[in-house]
Amino acid sequence: MSIIYEPSGRAKEYSQLAANLYRGCGHACTYCYAPDAIRERREKFYNLPIARQNILKELEKDCIRLGGKETRPVLLSFTSDPYQPLDEELQITREAIKLLKKHKLSPVCFICIGFPNDTEESIRKDIKTLLDLKVKLRVQILWAYPGVDFQGQGLSAETLKQLQRDAMYGSNSVAWRKKPKPVKKDVASLPL
Ligand code: SF4
Repeated sequence: MSIIYEPSGRAKEYSQLAANLYRGCGHACTYCYAPDAIRERREKFYNLPIARQNILKELEKDCIRLGGKETRPVLLSFTSDPYQPLDEELQITREAIKLLKKHKLSPVCFICIGFPNDTEESIRKDIKTLLDLKVKLRVQILWAYPGVDFQGQGLSAETLKQLQRDAMYGSNSVAWRKKPKPVKKDVASLPL
């Protein structure tokens, strides 16, 4: 069983390699695409997330096979938040990152912030844990939609954006190192 895999279709635009450590995600976002993508019942996906069988052992086999040869980053993950509540107990993501780094592979963690229970302190703590592991981070803010409170415990949009920036600068993430292209001004719109 291969844990590190090449996503197909449009997923490849986000990352050329990925590893899914969990099946299911306790964050239970109602709009989540993952249950459909992995053909899992939504209720089970949200309420009974599990670590994939022998995940660290199987991942290590892939690390040994690819280590030193593969330069493409490995995204954690496409089908769950790698830092979901279950991971606080199992700590698999942390061990997976250590394994990848030990074998000279480049893990990238994709995490979401702005869940209803999030506080500025809890987000900073989680981000620090990942930055201490020297992993690159991609941080998605969960914006509020009508009727859904995704702004955490009184977190303003400014605070969330600042937390996102701090995390991505802190991890030296490529996305934030790219300079924005200069905007060409339409001559006709310049003041005379
Ligand atoms: S955090 Fe991501 S993977 Fe988890 S339920 Fe929400 S959208 Fe799905």
